[in-house]
Formats: sequence, C-alpha cells, structure tokens
Amino acid sequence: MWIQPRESSGGWTLSVIEMAVVGGGPAGIAAAIQCQRSGISVTLFEKDRIGGLIKEANLVENYLGFPGGIPGQKLCDRFEEQLRFHNIRTLQEEVMLVDHDGFHFILHTALDTYKAERLVLATGTLPAAARLGFGVDNRTVCDNVMTLAHASDLSIAVLGAGDAAYDYALRLAKRNDVTIISRGEPRCLPLLRERALADDRISFLEGRTVQAVRKLQDGVSLKLKAQSGQEEMLFDRLLIAIGRVPNLTILGPSMEESSESLMNNGLFYMAGDVVNGDRRQVSIAASDGIKVAMSVREAAGR
Ligand SMILES: Cc1cc2nc3c(=O)[nH]c(=O)nc-3n(C[C@H](O)[C@H](O)[C@H](O)COP(=O)(O)OP(=O)(O)OC[C@H]3O[C@@H](n4cnc5c(N)ncnc54)[C@H](O)[C@@H]3O)c2cc1C
Repeated sequence: MWIQPRESSGGWTLSVIEMAVVGGGPAGIAAAIQCQRSGISVTLFEKDRIGGLIKEANLVENYLGFPGGIPGQKLCDRFEEQLRFHNIRTLQEEVMLVDHDGFHFILHTALDTYKAERLVLATGTLPAAARLGFGVDNRTVCDNVMTLAHASDLSIAVLGAGDAAYDYALRLAKRNDVTIISRGEPRCLPLLRERALADDRISFLEGRTVQAVRKLQDGVSLKLKAQSGQEEMLFDRLLIAIGRVPNLTILGPSMEESSESLMNNGLFYMAGDVVNGDRRQVSIAASDGIKVAMSVREAAGR
C-alpha cells in the first residue's frame, strides 16, 4: 500500500489546505488529479484503501479502455498508480466531522484538525441494511465481500436482487456455494442473471422476505417468509446488498445550514455516488470529479 497511516501532530495542522477532497474513490481521485493538473494544490483523505467501492466488483465491463473487462481490485491498483504519478498528497485518515467557521472548512480526523479553503465531498454511499426494517449489526452479523475474498467452501447467502447482489454472487461462487435471496424478481442486468443461472454453485430463493437474522456461533440463521409459510435457513455467512444511501454522515451542523451558500460561492462541491441517486457507475463518478475540478478552477480564477 502506498499511502501510509501517519503520526498525529497532536492537534491542529496549521497550514491551510487549498483544496481538500474527502474520499478516494473514482470521483475523488478524478477531482484530485484534474485539480492538481490545474495548479490547485490538493490533499486527499481516504479512510481505507484507494479506489472506493469498485474494488468490490467481480468484473468491470463498462469502463472504457478495458475491452475484456477488468476486476475491480485491478482497476483500483491502476487508479492508485495514477494518483501517485500525479504526486497528490494523500492521507490515510478518516474524516470524522466537517464544519465551516465562516472562513474555512474544518476537517476533524482522529489524528488532526485541518483547515481547507475548498472542499470536495466524494464519500460515496453506505449499505442500506436499515431497509430490512429491523436492526442488523453489519459488523457482527454480515460480511462484506472483501472479508470473504479468500473464503472457500462456505455456504453464503446474498440478500438482494440488483447488480451488486449478482456481482457478489458470481465472485463468491468461484469457491463457495451461494444462495441469492430476494423478495421479488431480479432487477439486475440480464447478462448477470444469465451468468448466475449458468453457475452450478449459485442457487436462488425468490419471493422470500427476511423476517429475522440471528448470529450463531458458526454461522447465521435467517427466518424467511414465503408464500408457503415460514422457513428458517442456516448459512455460514451472510452478505446484504439491498441498496445504498448517500454517505453524508460527516457533515456537521454548520455545514447543514450553509451548504447551499458555500456551493453557490464555489467553495463546496459534491461528486460521485454521494449525489447521483441510483446512477452509480464508475464513469459517471469519475466524470463528476472532472467536472467539479473544472468548476473549482473557474472559481479559483486559474
Ligand atoms: C459489487 C459492485 C459492483 C459494481 N460494478 C460496477 C461496474 O461494473 N461498473 C460501474 O461503472 N460501476 C460499478 N459499481 C459501482 C461503482 O463502484 C461506484 O459507482 C463508484 O465506485 C462510485 O465512486 P465514488 O467515488 O462516487 O464513491 P466510492 O467508490 O464509494 O468511494 C468513496 C470513498 O470515500 C471513502 N470515504 C467515505 N467516507 C470517508 C471519510 N469520512 N473519510 C475518508 N474517506 C472516506 C470510502 O472509503 C471510499 O473509498 C459497482 C459497485 C458494487 C458494489
């Protein structure tokens, strides 16, 4: 990994950042590179690995330049290389809170507090597990596809009917038995459905509503409601892919009040999945990042 966790300076970092980008996914990376190319100095904050959500994708087939598709993690490796090539200051720090004091954005991380003149929020989305209608503790009950990267010979339930659920299932079925559980008809791309149907290690439970999820010592129990009645099923692991919601949790009270005027004044921008509703695609996020950077350049008079 190229970006390194750093030591705390023990409080405020005094120099003012010209442009802070929060989120090192396609939107944040594209914004950072394009700004830096315009002569605007950027600091990018990423809490995890560079690349964002696309690292979870089995195969990305709609990003130009890769005729046969590219696995998500490999695409992220290339993004990281490009970020490094442009010598962008990248900090592996989670921004916990952003506020504005009337002059600057104040970014609080666990290590330091930073001031920035301009801010691009490119924090993507969070899983919408709350849509299940009852509490599921994501950390203890559900897995994420990255924690299952080396799993083999497990029975894995994937909850959902969209592209992400099918993409996860296809990836995990290379070494595990996967059951896709959904309330209704599939909503994924037909080609993903066809591939899943052709995979012997993927089975389907449709017309099922999940009523309860219970963590067991060595697995997960799901209580499902079907037309025929209730059933309880046991799996080694559970992965939930029932949609995502914008990740705006770091915006503090002053941001909630002044976001609009900060945007109108060319100081605050959002890019990528965090603002794109259901139009969540790498190309859209990256082009958003470029558009934002061009607006920053205009606003900064460069
Ligand atoms: C399984 C799956 C398969 C997919 N397949 C495809 C596909 O084939 N083609 C396609 O075009 N799209 C695909 N997508 C969608 C694609 O991944 C997203 O549209 C894209 O990654 C959005 O980019 P983004 O930069 O807006 O957000 P994200 O990629 O979500 O990046 C946000 C980044 O912000 C970081 N972050 C969040 N909060 C903080 C914080 N407080 N401090 C610091 N860092 C923070 C996160 O760690 C993350 O790295 C897929 C998605 C999934 C889940």
